[in-house]
Amino acid sequence: MKIHEYQGKQLFKKYGVPVPEGGPAFSVDEALDIAARLGGYPVVVKAQIHAGGRGKGGGVKLAKSHEEVKEHASKILGMTLVTKQTGPQGKLVKRLLVEKGCNIAKELYLSVLPDRSNAKICLMGSEAGGMSIEEVAAATPEKIIKVYVDPLLGIKPYHTRLLAFKMNIPKGAMKQFTQMITGLYNLSMDYDCSLVEINPLVITKEEEVIAIDSKINFDDNALFRHKDVMEFRDLDEEDPLEVEASKFDLNYIKLDGNVGNMVNGAGLAMATMDIIMLAGAEPANFLDVGGGANAEQVKNAFKIMLSDPNVKAVLINIFGGILRCDRLAEGVVNAAKEVGIKVPVVIRMEGTNVEIGRKILSDSGLQLVNAISMKDAAEKVAKAVKGL
Ligand code: GDP
Ligand code: MN
Repeated sequence: MKIHEYQGKQLFKKYGVPVPEGGPAFSVDEALDIAARLGGYPVVVKAQIHAGGRGKGGGVKLAKSHEEVKEHASKILGMTLVTKQTGPQGKLVKRLLVEKGCNIAKELYLSVLPDRSNAKICLMGSEAGGMSIEEVAAATPEKIIKVYVDPLLGIKPYHTRLLAFKMNIPKGAMKQFTQMITGLYNLSMDYDCSLVEINPLVITKEEEVIAIDSKINFDDNALFRHKDVMEFRDLDEEDPLEVEASKFDLNYIKLDGNVGNMVNGAGLAMATMDIIMLAGAEPANFLDVGGGANAEQVKNAFKIMLSDPNVKAVLINIFGGILRCDRLAEGVVNAAKEVGIKVPVVIRMEGTNVEIGRKILSDSGLQLVNAISMKDAAEKVAKAVKGL
C-alpha cells in the first residue's frame, strides 16, 4: 500500500526525522489558511498523488506571496497531473500539501529497503539526489552508496557513519544525519515497509538536514497489524476494479492488454499470462481467484473482469482441485446471467468434477469456446482478439 507525502511526513515526525512545517489542504481556502499560519514566504504548494515526478510535471510550485499561493493552489487542485509515474492518462489532484519553503544548499537521496537477494536491509544514499536520481543511477551507478544491515543485529552507529562519510555529509550536519537514518530504519522495521524514501533530503544553507519529500510503501501482507496505517488509505488513488476485487478477497491486478484471464492459483495465473503472450496477445489482468474459491467469488471475479472496457476476450483456465469444476461453472453461468457476456470466452478446465462442470456450461446455452489444452486455449483467445 502507498500513502501520500503528507501522511509519510507525519510518520517521519514521529520518528524524529525533521520535515518542513505545513499541512494538507483540500481546498484553495484551506491552502491559504495554512500558508498564513506558516507566517512567512516562500511557501511550497505540492500536489498529493500516489506518484512521483510531480516536480517535473508541474505539481510542485514555490509561492512568494498570498496571491501566488492562491494562483498555484487553484491551478494544481483539480488538475490532471501527468508524470513519468502516472502513465499518460495522469492523475486527478484532490489534495495539496502546503509547507514552508527552505533554503536548499544540496539535494541528497536516502532510502531504506529490504534486499531479498541477501536477506538484509539496504540503506541507500546518494549525494546526487533530486529530480534526476533515476538518470544518476543509470549513468553513474557508483554515485549510489549502499550499506547493508543484518535485521537480526539491527542498525549500529558504524552503519550510519559509513553511509554519511561516503555521501560526503558536511561535519556540521553529521549528527543530525546519522540520527535521521536510524529513525528511518526504525520506522521501516516497525511498520513492515517495503520502501521508505526521501528524495530530496535537503541540507540547507544553515547546515540543517530536512526531508522535503517522503515516499513510503507498506507490505500489504503485514497491514493487518498496522491498523493506524489503514486510516491513511486513499481509495481515490487505487484502481477502482482492484478496490472492488479486494472486497471479495481476489488477487486482481489490472494490466495493459485486452485478454481478460481468470485462473485459480498464482503460479497457474503467471503461466497463463506467459502463454497468452506466447500466442501473440496481451493479458488485461492478473486474476487469481484462489485455490478455495466458491461459486460466489468466481461470479464476482468474472463480473469485475467483464466490467473492464479493455477486455475484448476472456480466457478461463482452471485446474479443479479444491475449487471444483462444477463450482466454477456455476459461478460463470450466474455471472453471465447477471451481466451478460458480450465478448468471446474460451474455457479450459481440468480436474475434479470436470464432466459435471462441462455439462453445466453446455446446458446453460452460453456461447463458450472449449479448449483442450492451455496452448489450444491461448491460441483460440489470441485469435479472438486479433479477429477484431
Ligand atoms: P517529486 O518531483 O514528485 O519527487 O516532488 P518533490 O517533493 O521531490 O519536489 C520536487 C522538487 O521541488 C524538489 O526536488 C526540489 O528541488 C523542489 N522543492 C520542493 N520543496 C522545496 C522547497 O521548500 N524549496 C525549494 N527551493 N525547492 C523545493
Ligand atoms: Mn521527490
